[in-house]
Parts: sequence; structure tokens; C-alpha cells
Amino acid sequence: MRKDDCIFCKIAGGEIPSRTVYEDELFRVIMDIEPAEKGHCLIIPKNHFDDLFTLGEEEATKMMPLAQTIATKMKEALSCDGLNIVQNNGEAANQTVKHFHLHLIPRYTGDHNQEKLIWNHAEVADAEMDEIFSKLK
Ligand code: AMP
Ligand code: ZN
Repeated sequence: MRKDDCIFCKIAGGEIPSRTVYEDELFRVIMDIEPAEKGHCLIIPKNHFDDLFTLGEEEATKMMPLAQTIATKMKEALSCDGLNIVQNNGEAANQTVKHFHLHLIPRYTGDHNQEKLIWNHAEVADAEMDEIFSKLK
């Protein structure tokens, strides 16, 4: 499954060069060209899926073990103090590249993202919390 006009399909397929830190049959892990912090990487499935809603079952199953492997490597190689996993789906959630990808962002004590990668709290009344709860459970 490949989409002709998709930049991450081209990167995953090796047509566009990237700093590939890991590759197997299903995934390519690359360094983000505009890193939030030093060592920011993206796990990209080789098959095209727009987002989490359509991600293949095998990719979904194998994604988190791979994230753990890469995160461990980051901790060893970069001595990061923490790490954020970020994964955006849809314009409303700030997804800019419409090919599923998982961000792995190493964090360093006192780094320059102290005010970012943090969401603002929404005001939600108790009654609405219960209404949402009844829809989700
Ligand atoms: P998102 O906003 O979650 O869709 O993230 C897209 C990410 O892809 C951004 O962090 C970009 O910096 C990154 N990106 C876009 N083009 C490239 C590229 N050619 N090589 C590496 N990273 C890229
Ligand atoms: Zn694609």
C-alpha cells in the first residue's frame, strides 16, 4: 500500500533520503528534519495509513515494542533525561503529514520545551464529564 503523492511513502520506500536510524520490513525510523529536541525521531510504517484510525493491525501491534527499543537506544546514546511520545491525527490535532507517524522526542532537564508539549486544561463541568463517560465506557 503506497500513495503516490505522499512524502512519507517516498521516505519510507527510500526514494527520498533520510537519516534512517532503524529499518525493518514494516517500519523505517528517521530523524525529524525539524527536531523539537536533539534526537527527535519518527517511526513511520512502510505501508501508507492516513492515521491511527486506519493503521494496520500488524503495525499497531508491533509499534510500541519498537518505540520501546528506540527509546532505550536514545536513553543510552543521548543520555536524555526523559522522552515524549506524540502522535497527531487529523488537522484538528495538528497532523501536518497525512501518513501515520509516531514522534519520539528525547527530553533533557531544563531543555527549551518547558512551556510546550503541554496542553491547556479545558473547563468541563461534572455533568458533562459524566455524559462523556457514559459515551466512552
Ligand atoms: P505532524 O505535525 O505530527 O504531522 O508531524 C510531521 C513531522 O514531520 C514534523 O515534525 C516535520 O518536521 C517532519 N517532517 C516533515 N518532512 C520531513 C522530512 N522530509 N524528513 C524528516 N522529517 C520530516
Ligand atoms: Zn504515505
